[in-house]
Amino acid sequence: MIELLGKSLEELQSIFKTHNIQKFRAKQLIDYIYHRYVFDFQDMTQFPKELRQWLSDNCIISLPTLITESVSPDGKTRKILVEMIDQSRVEAVLMEQHYGYSVCVSSQVGCAMGCVFCASTQGGLYRDLTAAEIIGQVVIFGALTKEQIHSVVVMGAGEPLQNYDNVLQALQLLHDPVICNISYRKMTISTCGWVPNIYKLADEGLPITLALSLHATNNEVRRSIMPVGARYELTEVLDAVKYYYDTTQRRITFEYILIDSINASMEEAHALGEICKDFPNCHVNLIPVNGNEHIELYKPSITNMNTFKDIVASYGVSVTVRKEMGDAIQAACGQLKAAHGRKKENHE
Ligand code: SF4
Repeated sequence: MIELLGKSLEELQSIFKTHNIQKFRAKQLIDYIYHRYVFDFQDMTQFPKELRQWLSDNCIISLPTLITESVSPDGKTRKILVEMIDQSRVEAVLMEQHYGYSVCVSSQVGCAMGCVFCASTQGGLYRDLTAAEIIGQVVIFGALTKEQIHSVVVMGAGEPLQNYDNVLQALQLLHDPVICNISYRKMTISTCGWVPNIYKLADEGLPITLALSLHATNNEVRRSIMPVGARYELTEVLDAVKYYYDTTQRRITFEYILIDSINASMEEAHALGEICKDFPNCHVNLIPVNGNEHIELYKPSITNMNTFKDIVASYGVSVTVRKEMGDAIQAACGQLKAAHGRKKENHE
């Protein structure tokens, strides 16, 4: 069967040409899938009956299947659990922001990186998601809300820069004016510091925002909560991020999870401010850690978090404490579950 999801206009035209189908049908098909959210070939009534039958017999649109959906009490955050064709499951989140709808997608089933505060990594890495499976998470939210998706963050389960080609292909499709027409400037890739591919992404010349999961200001603490810190020293990571900034001129976002008694001291706030001096216009996103049944980590008191924030801000840095929009439905950072990450038969 020929997979049609995640194909560019040119690729679809080429498939259709091979099968003697008129070229303009490819554009119509894109319109059905990405703008009208019609996924059943028999409902594509602009197509002649014979074409609908040929598509049904030879092609698939393997949109992930929606398994569960939860909505936060304020209705602004929706988390979905979706299942891929091989029964792998991942979660994705839709957030209603003041500027529009933002979707957070997963890039892998599980994650190999082992960050101690993160629920996604608890079962390890199962597999990379394909470009179609990544874009499918955005399409599902479009279909559910019938709203234009304004921005995409690759910040769910997985280390996106370990699944580089598929993530980039998905973002290129989401950017394509014929498909989803989302500006690269409204896309963010979050990395725990996968150094070689930070350089590679910088050299693509795309104005994608880079978010670095920094989470510590020295190697010792970083290694203790992020195993990737043993592979890449903090200076190597920051050098790569500086190269990204210098090359793209895109504002860097530093994600910093606040964990009481681990990385949230006032000294660390000053150290974070010092690091930020090298990155003009950077933004620091402080994230109170989310404990769950697997993770016994605690957020600092509100007073301590505010003091931490004020110290970082005193270095002239833009800094916010992330609103815990999804906390009520466990859709906040580090809470997208790994429990659903493997094939159903392994876990149920
Ligand atoms: S925080 Fe990101 S990189 Fe770290 S384990 Fe979780 S998903 Fe992987």
